[in-house]
Amino acid sequence: MNILVTGGAGFVGSACLRWLVKHGHNPIAYDNLKEGHIGAVPSGRLVIGDIANTDALVTVMTKFKIDAVMHFAAATYVGESVTNPDYHYSNNVSGTLSLLRAMQKAGVKRLLFSSTCATYGMNPKVPMAEDSLQDPCSPYARTKLVVEWMIRDFAHAYGLGFTLLRYFNAAGADPDGTHGEDHRPETHLIPLVLEVPLGKRKELTIFGNDYPTPDGTCVRDYIHTSDLAQAHHLAIEATTPTTSEVYNIGTGNGQSNLQIIRACEQVTGTKIPFQFGPRRPGDPPALVADPTKLKTRLGWKPQFADIVKTVETAWKWHTTHRNGYAD
Ligand code: UDP
Repeated sequence: MNILVTGGAGFVGSACLRWLVKHGHNPIAYDNLKEGHIGAVPSGRLVIGDIANTDALVTVMTKFKIDAVMHFAAATYVGESVTNPDYHYSNNVSGTLSLLRAMQKAGVKRLLFSSTCATYGMNPKVPMAEDSLQDPCSPYARTKLVVEWMIRDFAHAYGLGFTLLRYFNAAGADPDGTHGEDHRPETHLIPLVLEVPLGKRKELTIFGNDYPTPDGTCVRDYIHTSDLAQAHHLAIEATTPTTSEVYNIGTGNGQSNLQIIRACEQVTGTKIPFQFGPRRPGDPPALVADPTKLKTRLGWKPQFADIVKTVETAWKWHTTHRNGYAD
């Protein structure tokens, strides 16, 4: 299949793109390189462009005879969405509107959308199945929920097959150590914790220790990018021009922020000093997937159930690429 991967030079988009190449598909990354990295995309597979540019999207879809779109391009920092919602609504909502218009013009009828567990937000019931109440508590999460509904409405009115993938916390790196996480600035927990044993930071601040969770810190479900990529591969092959599906992608195991510190200490053999700070605005207390549907319907078989194994792959990437893709 010829697949356009928006945000294909980013952390998750590029992991999926590389996986698709290995499994016989023909993916093309479409990325404005604001946050993505040229080095994350196999050569000859990158088109530089912005999803806001509908005409450019139509040209690319036509030129490469695109059969399906995987849509990753988005602003993703929860904290930033609270202080700069304009940026998030422009990128995520207006950007997707532009993409949907381009797909209509180019006659592309299959879409996979990167949604998020953050749309479940304050829902206190964990683990979360796909029919759980969606109660987003940040502008970022609300943009993703708006887009879910926008896709459903476009599909109903204009004809479009879609699969919404709500993923939990993407983590880890390619097991061979060649590609991994490189955000500037880095805001995600695991790479920030690993900066301590790398000698790049002295200690870590844990945002909040008064959440209604077993140890008082937030709980997240860290899903390895290889397992995410496998899920995207299965989902795109199952998406027809009349599909309307939604799947969670997570391990089903929650890890508190303190448990992540312990896992990183175990992998790196280094004591990681930390202090508690105030809660970060927009953070839900606990997000854990019930991935039963993905396993039973699509035959998804995750390889990284153990958080220590996931952190090991991240550690391999960071120790061999101290400056990320600049190395
Ligand atoms: N977190 C933290 N200190 C940091 C960065 C993150 O305590 O320096 C916490 C954050 O508040 C959340 C968890 O780590 O509870 C995961 O945050 P991350 O930004 O990695 O992913 P998110 O859940 O926001 O997608």
